[in-house]
Amino acid sequence: MWFGSVTLFPEMFNALQSGIPGRAQAAEHIQVQCWNPRDFAKGARRNVDDRPYGGGPGMVMMVEPLLLAIQAAKKTAPGPAKVIYLSPQGQKFDQAAAERLATEKSLIFVSGRYEGIDDRLLTLEAGEQWSVGDYILSGGELAAMVMMDAITRLIPGTLGSSASSRQESLSNGLLEYPQYTRPENFAGLAVPDVLLNGDHQAIDRWRLKASLGRSWLQRPDLLTGREQNTLEALLLAEFLQEREQKSE
Ligand code: SAM
Repeated sequence: MWFGSVTLFPEMFNALQSGIPGRAQAAEHIQVQCWNPRDFAKGARRNVDDRPYGGGPGMVMMVEPLLLAIQAAKKTAPGPAKVIYLSPQGQKFDQAAAERLATEKSLIFVSGRYEGIDDRLLTLEAGEQWSVGDYILSGGELAAMVMMDAITRLIPGTLGSSASSRQESLSNGLLEYPQYTRPENFAGLAVPDVLLNGDHQAIDRWRLKASLGRSWLQRPDLLTGREQNTLEALLLAEFLQEREQKSE
């Protein structure tokens, strides 16, 4: 997967040289290239922003340097590239969106700064608008990196075990079950017995029950409208019963 990034702060994307995205770059599963709109700005001062028409606080990113930077990125992309605008006004990014975008070959992420970008850019360069949540960041770079990281994890070969991205929270519409590692006992808290006995059927059953229970407790919205099969309905009922017994 090829990621282009149009940003006033290309150095921020060095953060993707660590951890899984870093390994993915080294193994050429992903490539990250940046374009700075300032390099495409006109005049001695290379301005990339100006005051908003109609008045109001702050500055707005000018359309031309952004447009030229996107066009330059498109020329370098290894194939047709989808443009992604980072914006708090976009659709909310989630695992399903990451899975869909992971099937693309090239994506160009456009990060706004200041009060945002001149709206005409969206008409001149069609693309998708994505938000990472209902809050305002100072710029799109962190949001772009959040999306790049989530997408990278889904590209075959980027994770140590290909199973691990499939078992993670939200990949099956539920939160992941609790995980434990050594030591077996810590501060009076023991790892559940079922995880120690090597009975994989029992472990899978326990994990599915814990996943359903955790989702019910922490993210009930995930269970609303979910088509539960008989086993899931039974395990959730068991979880709730055990919880009630514990509280008695
Ligand atoms: N005035 C804009 C508005 O109300 O929609 C917000 C501008 S914000 C300070 C500057 C830039 O940060 C935006 O252009 C966008 O690229 C990025 N940004 C801020 N919050 C974001 C979010 N929740 N998701 C994605 N990008 C965001």
